[in-house]
Amino acid sequence: MENNSTTVSSVSRQLADRNIDIAEIDRGEGRMMQLFSRAARSYELHEGLPPVGGASAHMRQHPLTGEWISYSGARQNRTMLPNVSECPLCPMTDDEQLTDVPVDAYELAIFTNRFSALSPDAAGPPQLDLPTRPGIGVCDVISYSSDHHASLSTIGADRIELLIDALDIRLETLLANPDIQWVLPFENRGREIGVTLDHPHGQLYALPHLPEKIRTTAEGFIKTDPLEGLTTRIPDQLKLDENDAGLAFVPPWAKYPFETWIVPHDRTSGLAGLSRSERAGMAALIETAAQKLDAVFEAPMPYTFGWQTAPKGFEDTFHMHCVFQPMKRASDKMKYLASVEQFTGFYLVDLPPEDAAAQLNAAFEEGSNQ
Ligand SMILES: [Zn+2]
Repeated sequence: MENNSTTVSSVSRQLADRNIDIAEIDRGEGRMMQLFSRAARSYELHEGLPPVGGASAHMRQHPLTGEWISYSGARQNRTMLPNVSECPLCPMTDDEQLTDVPVDAYELAIFTNRFSALSPDAAGPPQLDLPTRPGIGVCDVISYSSDHHASLSTIGADRIELLIDALDIRLETLLANPDIQWVLPFENRGREIGVTLDHPHGQLYALPHLPEKIRTTAEGFIKTDPLEGLTTRIPDQLKLDENDAGLAFVPPWAKYPFETWIVPHDRTSGLAGLSRSERAGMAALIETAAQKLDAVFEAPMPYTFGWQTAPKGFEDTFHMHCVFQPMKRASDKMKYLASVEQFTGFYLVDLPPEDAAAQLNAAFEEGSNQ
């Protein structure tokens, strides 16, 4: 059933050592979609899922801590764990089964979240007895693959490198917007932590303000860079993988069981500063880290994963890094953030980082030898 489709071709971009093809599609109502590939290709484009209307998002400020809190009614109605045949992130091969990536096949897609908590043209906030502001910002979905059953640990280092290039291009656009202060690309992985779609995907939030925790992290780099020269300072037992580009390791300061960081050896504030070979090297380290996390309990590890790049104004000192925060501490035990962590931000960790690294490395060795 191809009667409602059109053909869209990708356009090559050869910018600053980036060798990438992009098809940019305007899906109407402020929704965009970018399809990324290494080689030029074309797509059969269908109509796809319609936009979701709803109440405009807004933010309210906590009177004691100054934190901004987002309120968005539209998110209550988002799709919950659909069957594979109804997955909105799968390609669209049938005019009857609408998806949110409505092309016949694709490699990597970044597109506007149908259930955005923030919007570039958010309406005025309600007048309340506390500071409010419009929910200005951008929420994107990043689908890693057409393959519903893939994951970060199985898509391959080449696809992760394409992801790095795609995020670099998207972040450049978002950070050029004066309303945006910081962008967090991330992945929530696993039903255990509330993921509503099984399809392998990440997201990004482009924020109009700098959350306090991120400001503290960014300010931590101003006097000294604790991520400089790590390869000679981190004990070998905490290392998970290393190459010319960077290091994957369990940090001695881990707050989560099996927490894993991937850090480029040479300081760069964001993805744009990574050379071609550093992108390949970082992709290989992320792949190995994801594989070790899945190997440790011989099951997909539920985690949150974040790309930490410089907020505006901190580009001269910030050292970009990627962090996995796994949520399992044993094959049958979840790590929950309970009273002490929630009220204080003071973390209680049952698994010493040294034991976590030993388990990750041993599980992977076993798996590789089979
Ligand atoms: Zn899917």
